[in-house]
Amino acid sequence: MTPANTVLAISGGVGGAKLALGLERVLPAGELAVLVNTGDDFTHLGLRICPDLDTLLYTLGGVVHTGQGWGRADESFCFMDELRRQGGPDWFLLGDRDLVLHVERTRRLAAGERLTALTAEFAQRFGVRSRLLPMSDSPVATLLDTDAGELEFQHYFVRLRCTPAVRALRFAGAAQARPTEELLNVLHSKALQAVILCPSNPYLSIDPILAIPGLSAALRASQVPIIAVSPLIGGRAVKGPTAKIMQELGVQASPASIAAHYAGLIDGLVIDHADATDARGLSVPVVCTDTLMSTLADRERVASIAVEFAATLRARAVIRSRA
Ligand code: GDP
Repeated sequence: MTPANTVLAISGGVGGAKLALGLERVLPAGELAVLVNTGDDFTHLGLRICPDLDTLLYTLGGVVHTGQGWGRADESFCFMDELRRQGGPDWFLLGDRDLVLHVERTRRLAAGERLTALTAEFAQRFGVRSRLLPMSDSPVATLLDTDAGELEFQHYFVRLRCTPAVRALRFAGAAQARPTEELLNVLHSKALQAVILCPSNPYLSIDPILAIPGLSAALRASQVPIIAVSPLIGGRAVKGPTAKIMQELGVQASPASIAAHYAGLIDGLVIDHADATDARGLSVPVVCTDTLMSTLADRERVASIAVEFAATLRARAVIRSRA
């Protein structure tokens, strides 16, 4: 059954999943759809691995390792131990239960199934109440031009622990990729109330999504408020290389830079109190709150604020003409 209302969250992995979980808990059942980055996806040991989709599956399915924010809580590593013993590549950690998803996904994709369809089935099996929508069914790969040469995303992020300095990014395959019918249905639906950009890494997690021309156009054509939650707190990233990449690209790590990054797309920005003084003169309406989501209650609170902010903009018809 199609829900009366839909809120579309746009997410990468760990940072995004925190807000997605909050949104799922504060919205009526079935009203959340999550558009997920697949630019991090890669083929490793012959397996198709979709780290951000899996983080959302595990988080919304209630099986995530809460300390890490990724992987499963109840996990064993027999495969990894043996792989190491056999001299195989051990830089990307694969738990035994986690592995099942990659094996099944690889098998089903090879049999011609679409990533969107099998993700929906995985979500159902994990008891996820929200719709999980990959950004495309065709592969897109985030590639980083760094001082250590061009790197595939997981080599930069996991193997080299984000150490190389980033000079530019590109999203191979994005120009040819198409948004899925399921996603376009959400974006064109009268039920759509708001779009919320989670506090994911704008460069690594949100830009690959926006790089798909048909998707970006449909998003910009939507007549609902689009708001973002800033991934910075006090000019720093809670986790990961967001602020480091901003510095390397010559951009100040501030809410103004986040607003500028999403200029022509967003109608409002949620920022942390710690950045309030930097927020003056921003080009979009701003809501200031404590955006650190350590506990479940934090996630629900930030989610409620984001939903209310979007509803206020909607009521005031504050939808900017999008570039
Ligand atoms: P991803 O981009 O969603 O895959 O997630 P990462 O774990 O790589 O983190 C991306 C961004 O999320 C970083 O810039 C973090 O600062 C931000 N982030 C993580 N947790 C929080 C949080 O609790 N509050 C806010 N505002 N940002 C967060």
